[in-house]
Amino acid sequence: MAKSLIIGACGQIGSELTIELRKQRGADTVVATDIREGSKSLLSSGVFEKLDVMDKKAVVSCIKRHDITEVYLMAAMLSATAEKYPGKAWDLNMISLSNILDIAKEGLIKRIFWPSSIAVFGPTTPKKNTPQVTIMEPTSVYGITKLAGERWCDYFYHNHNIDVRSIRYPGLISWKTDPGGGTTDYAIEIYHKALTHKVYNCFLKADTELPMMYMNDAIKATIAIMEADFSNITVWASYNLGGISFTPEKIAASIKKHIPDFSINYIPDFRQKIADTWPDSIDDTIAFQDWGWKHEFDLDAITKDMIANLTRKKKIS
Ligand code: NAD
Repeated sequence: MAKSLIIGACGQIGSELTIELRKQRGADTVVATDIREGSKSLLSSGVFEKLDVMDKKAVVSCIKRHDITEVYLMAAMLSATAEKYPGKAWDLNMISLSNILDIAKEGLIKRIFWPSSIAVFGPTTPKKNTPQVTIMEPTSVYGITKLAGERWCDYFYHNHNIDVRSIRYPGLISWKTDPGGGTTDYAIEIYHKALTHKVYNCFLKADTELPMMYMNDAIKATIAIMEADFSNITVWASYNLGGISFTPEKIAASIKKHIPDFSINYIPDFRQKIADTWPDSIDDTIAFQDWGWKHEFDLDAITKDMIANLTRKKKIS
């Protein structure tokens, strides 16, 4: 049985991944770490330690103390924040990955999960049904770090036989945690504002189509790729992962089916420029062929689940 270390466990994806892995494999098989403390539900679900991924010695000590066999490296600076602090984004996103790859090279862990993003694509990439292998000239700081990271993973597999698995997540939607500074975060904020104010000022234009995915599907994909047979993995940079694609206009229409007097205004800001360089939709045939990937949630299923859970959560708090 794998013993997992989650780095960045208090973030949007890390917190849900930690809880799901603990549910599936047992609480004591997962060590959650972050530089900050997370929600009560995360902290009470099992072992939590404060850990800075930039401190390689501390990471090694944690891995040895807990007999860790696999690491999920979820710590990173996301797209919108990275544009504000480019140097810090480069350091965090690259040094964190280098530290974990080196630790694997030293033989201390057997397997790594490191997430990439649709941000690796750029304005010259074909936008519709973007293929696995295509032109990649990202223009955002975040995209540049993710593309460099992908090449680094591929290099470590081919030169040092490191088992590092990766997915290019699309924009992720979840009701459980607040978003962490990404360009696709409008698709989370919109549900919160629809319930509290019945109006949302969207920072993207009405017809900005982006690939998106419900968090349940993203967590399912993350666990599936890590549990796939080594011999089935053919992509050592990062797999394309498709969910659904929609625009702010379409998500607003889906919300109106539940909240008829909801309205949306479009006030694009600097994030529009980032979104304009990303694909509209993703071809994930290779993930399906290699490890059976298939998404479950479409837009109306996401809206129904988001509204039901956020309504319940707001009543409790
Ligand atoms: P997030 O910002 O919500 O969480 C990141 C976590 O890392 C935070 O809890 C933060 O405290 C922690 N962290 C930051 N610096 C750290 C350090 N030095 N040491 C230890 N922990 C540190 O991000 P997320 O949305 O959960 O994303 C996780 C990963 O998935 C990232 O690599 C991100 O690039 C990728 N991703 C996310 C999305 C999305 O829509 N959320 C889409 C594509 C890719």
